[in-house]
Amino acid sequence: MATHATPDLFQDALRRLDEAADYAEIDPEALERLKHPKAIIQVSIPVRMDDGSLRIFDAIRVRHDDTRGPTKGGIRYHPDVDLSEVKALAFWMTCKCAVVGLPFGGAKGGITVNAKELSKLEVERMSRGFVEQMADFIGPETDIPAPDMYTNAMVMGWMMDEYSTIRRQRTPAVITGKPLPLGGSQGRDDATGRGAYYCIKQLEEKTQWKPHDTRVAIQGFGNAGQSVAHLLHNDGYRVVGVSDSQGGIYKADGFDIPSLMYTKNETRRLEAVYCDGSVCEAVDADVITNEELLELDVDILIPAALENQITEDNAAKIKAPIIVEVANGPTSSEADKILQSRKTLIVPDILANAGGVTVSYFEWVQNKIGYYWELEEVQTRLLKIMSTEFNRVYDLMQAKEIDMRTAAYVHALGRMGAALESQGTYRFFNEGRA
Ligand code: NAD
Repeated sequence: MATHATPDLFQDALRRLDEAADYAEIDPEALERLKHPKAIIQVSIPVRMDDGSLRIFDAIRVRHDDTRGPTKGGIRYHPDVDLSEVKALAFWMTCKCAVVGLPFGGAKGGITVNAKELSKLEVERMSRGFVEQMADFIGPETDIPAPDMYTNAMVMGWMMDEYSTIRRQRTPAVITGKPLPLGGSQGRDDATGRGAYYCIKQLEEKTQWKPHDTRVAIQGFGNAGQSVAHLLHNDGYRVVGVSDSQGGIYKADGFDIPSLMYTKNETRRLEAVYCDGSVCEAVDADVITNEELLELDVDILIPAALENQITEDNAAKIKAPIIVEVANGPTSSEADKILQSRKTLIVPDILANAGGVTVSYFEWVQNKIGYYWELEEVQTRLLKIMSTEFNRVYDLMQAKEIDMRTAAYVHALGRMGAALESQGTYRFFNEGRA
């Protein structure tokens, strides 16, 4: 794991915005508005633990911008959750929704907790407590949460149930990523990984590489990492490196991903809400560290765990010519510069992992109309959005001779700027004045 810590993730995120603004036509006032989250709420959640003691957990929810629609973004349970991180994640959600053209703004939330240390009942009480504290802040027309790290469909189901109890009406559209029987959408479970996979397929078309000659390393083997690994494996790609929070494994001729998933998910007690098993113990393969995984000699590197993994400390050691960012914010802005000078192609997070929020949007639409789509319809609509927006960003990158991350921001700024500017700018209000 990279040790270098970016002091302020939100400031680092805004640096990218400023860089992209140089290439976009956006009014300075609209740009300034994007630098200030619309609303922030910090609460404490008292939870009665199984042993009878009381623990208080700190939680945050940030709504970054709702000009283009209600805010949308996940809730993560992690010991490192802090305000700067959640502000950055909310900002990225605004950009992400704009990149893929969804009628949403961005939000994010989190509880500072190591959820793996809690029992299932304690996780349920804490999740319901989060909604109790946030009930006036979230809602189907205001702010719609979803899963993120160490939260899953069951947690979303508890949260929806709690919100419905408080409102005295069934309100499935308040949250997405729910279990199917509680109003979830077909195809939401693998949507983030699938969206990244569709991006890789677009690149494959452009470069004509052969899947069976293409080596892939994936950091993080949770929801998103497993989905993209599985889809690539089914296509013949060689997934040679995989890691989780405990460490990584390497196999030169590629892993059999379904059996790796089975070992990690089924036999390692993932029938519980959280898995305490690790891919390190899963198969007979070389054990590597997370640092080594990032530096493997592969064709595609997929960070799918935490932010700030590729930093100025290790960027020069990254050998993969293509990085597909499934995690949010895995590459610091300093690392970006180093990778750009080495001509590494980075498919940025706000595009590569947008499949999750896209199918979350489909889920919200289905909840509101009360009519549910078949899996095929969900996947067809997802493919259309991901491939269309991928190609728009790619074309912009080529036309403006900029990197793909900047191109994605320029594309997003076009949509965000248009919405903000249509409320009036300095120029509009001062037209005709002497
Ligand atoms: P998850 O909790 O299902 O899985 C996270 C994985 O990362 C686990 O395998 C965990 O062991 C591993 N991990 C944790 N710390 C690690 C470390 N220090 N080094 C290596 N691996 C580590 O989470 P997820 O939903 O798959 O999310 C992963 C990333 O994708 C996050 O950055 C999240 O914000 C992003 N993302 C997820 C979604 C979604 O729909 N799930 C959507 C968009 C973006």
